[in-house]
Amino acid sequence: MSSSHPVDPSELTGLGKRYWLPVYRPRDVVLDHGKGARVWDTQGRDYLDFGAGIAVNSLGHQDPDLVAALVAQAHKLWHASNVFYTEPPLHLAQELVEHAPFAERVFLCNSGTEANEAAIKLVRKWAAAQGRTPDNRVIVTFQGSFHGRTLASVTATAQPKYQEGYEPLPGGFRYVPFNDVAALEGAFAQGGVAAVMLEPVQGEGGVMPAEPGFLKKVRELCDAHDALMVLDEIQCGMGRTGTLFAHSHDHVTPDIVTLAKALGAGFPIGAMLAGPKVADVMQFGAHGTTFGGNPMAAAVALVALRKIASPAVLLNVERQANDIRAGLAKLNHAFHVFSEVRGRGLMIGAVLDAAYKGRAGEILDIAAAHGLLILQAGPDVLRIVPPLTITDEETAEGLQRLHDTLAAFVKEAQVA
Ligand SMILES: *Cc1c(COP(=O)(O)O)cnc(C)c1O
Repeated sequence: MSSSHPVDPSELTGLGKRYWLPVYRPRDVVLDHGKGARVWDTQGRDYLDFGAGIAVNSLGHQDPDLVAALVAQAHKLWHASNVFYTEPPLHLAQELVEHAPFAERVFLCNSGTEANEAAIKLVRKWAAAQGRTPDNRVIVTFQGSFHGRTLASVTATAQPKYQEGYEPLPGGFRYVPFNDVAALEGAFAQGGVAAVMLEPVQGEGGVMPAEPGFLKKVRELCDAHDALMVLDEIQCGMGRTGTLFAHSHDHVTPDIVTLAKALGAGFPIGAMLAGPKVADVMQFGAHGTTFGGNPMAAAVALVALRKIASPAVLLNVERQANDIRAGLAKLNHAFHVFSEVRGRGLMIGAVLDAAYKGRAGEILDIAAAHGLLILQAGPDVLRIVPPLTITDEETAEGLQRLHDTLAAFVKEAQVA
């Protein structure tokens, strides 16, 4: 299947370069349509999709059930606001809670950063309700984390490159190194901690999983100091690691979990799930959003949730993850480009060897030229986050294209 498009792609990309705020630097490819784990550009060239729109399109492209849900809702009602009920967000909230033993209530919003903003506000409201002064509502976050782009969520994001120039940043955050129990104990010892917020697998920070036992330790310290445990599962949740929630591997009970990315499988939606300590802290008027719980987004997310939570999809995560890891090991045997492959399930980071430090972006360009879409997580890590429904054939073909990509890269590197 291909579509021939009369427009020169450089004419199209030129529009982005001319009219968009230049905060993005997309590859010079204009994608047109997709099917499964494959997408086509406007010139009819096909690509294997190992990026899934940044871990979003978890059911691949053109999933017939998602399309049907969206079209059916589009023919009924697009939007109602939170002044009236519609059906899809009611069922979505119910099923999310039924899947989440830790949660009692759900706040629906439109993006990851909004879900985290809601979580940050909820922590503060909870601390305030306990009579803690503003100085004693500190949220501890971790170096290398990514929590979003609003002022509060970018302040939670303990990476200077995202914060530079946006000062004054809101106060009340304290940063510690990831996976460092002693540093976390130190942060508690300074006092005033109301919550610890973290990604069970850091995404943007280089696909870095929490070490075994770390989440348990966070939970223990939170309990000992009467603080909340907030998990940002926006990237690692929704089946990505092989269980619906990433923290299930660690047998902990968080107080708040945020979701977005794959929740709508490509349709914008976010959610904050609140456990018993905090579910009733925000009362009428305390928070809100016009689009949150939009019936189109919720109708799609409901079907996405049912499919992603199914054994067929979750077992495929493990199967394909094993194949990709084995494939990467084989490629590394041939090309010696990676110092480490890490991650969990279909959230895989291939760390570039010191000899190729800083060159992930270059590899992405070469990959695109070889019909493969992959991502980076910082300058030194290739990030592989394909649809959870990727097939054996698609995985094999993607790995073949990655082989050709790395062969071309290594050759170029030797010439240079
Ligand atoms: C993508 C991401 C966010 C931000 O989500 P947006 O939808 O881009 O606002 C927050 N946290 C994590 C872990 C993410 O990966």
